[in-house]
Amino acid sequence: MPHDGGATYQPGARLAPYHLRRVSALVQGYHPEHGVDVFAQLRCTDGGNVPFPPFDRAAMRTTVEAEVRELSASRITPMVIGGDHSITLPVLRALSKRYGPLAVVHFDAHLDTSGPEVWGDEFHHGTPIRHAIEEGLIEQGQLYQIGIRGPRGSADDDALVKRRGHTLFTADHVAERGARRVTAELRERIGTRPVYVTFDLDAIDPAFAPGTGTPVPGGLTAREALGLVRGLAGLEICGGDLVEYCPPLDHADISGHLAVHLVWEMLAALAVTRR
Ligand code: MN
Ligand code: MN
Repeated sequence: MPHDGGATYQPGARLAPYHLRRVSALVQGYHPEHGVDVFAQLRCTDGGNVPFPPFDRAAMRTTVEAEVRELSASRITPMVIGGDHSITLPVLRALSKRYGPLAVVHFDAHLDTSGPEVWGDEFHHGTPIRHAIEEGLIEQGQLYQIGIRGPRGSADDDALVKRRGHTLFTADHVAERGARRVTAELRERIGTRPVYVTFDLDAIDPAFAPGTGTPVPGGLTAREALGLVRGLAGLEICGGDLVEYCPPLDHADISGHLAVHLVWEMLAALAVTRR
């Protein structure tokens, strides 16, 4: 969690805060493409887990939203590690209360705009973007969904997204145009708006990230995904998450290593903005 100075955040008694660099010996600080030392530029702290009753998802939403509001009030930029994608809704609720409707960059194989007709559940992990749109947490035309692919339930699954003027970059679109051109367009269109980055690991091809619950073949390569996040440097990133990583489904920590580097790229992108 990068801290932009000012008020002091006390993570409380849950876990002693410690430097992100110690959390993962996998990443060092200096980013050669950006020319920035991420951990010198940003003060990073592991805020520990957000404890909530594991079988009460309404309580999860309340708890996560309250936690992120507290962080945000302390001028901390939350980088939230999931958990499944249903945690993104309370994070967006909290941040939009501070910043107003947000720009959102959403990496995913799926639209995540399902309704309760899917699985008979209003708030499962395929629904956060629908709620965020319907609750006005996302600015009209400022949702960018990247890596979308695969079979859908019906021809109008993306009707809500289209109706609100949002933009879909399929995995094929990224492969054809390349990460640099896609992110140049994002930077141009997002401008100085506060932007939230939500990264569902299944945006990436299962060849590179098998450790996820709903894999879809034909996704982003690891290099494309890292380049896409890298290309967000300079944007006013007000928070982010990495969700849908499922260690029991992983092999040789392939997905875990990539997840760590994706979060590091998010931090590096923010470090460039704060430089
Ligand atoms: Mn997904
Ligand atoms: Mn998702």
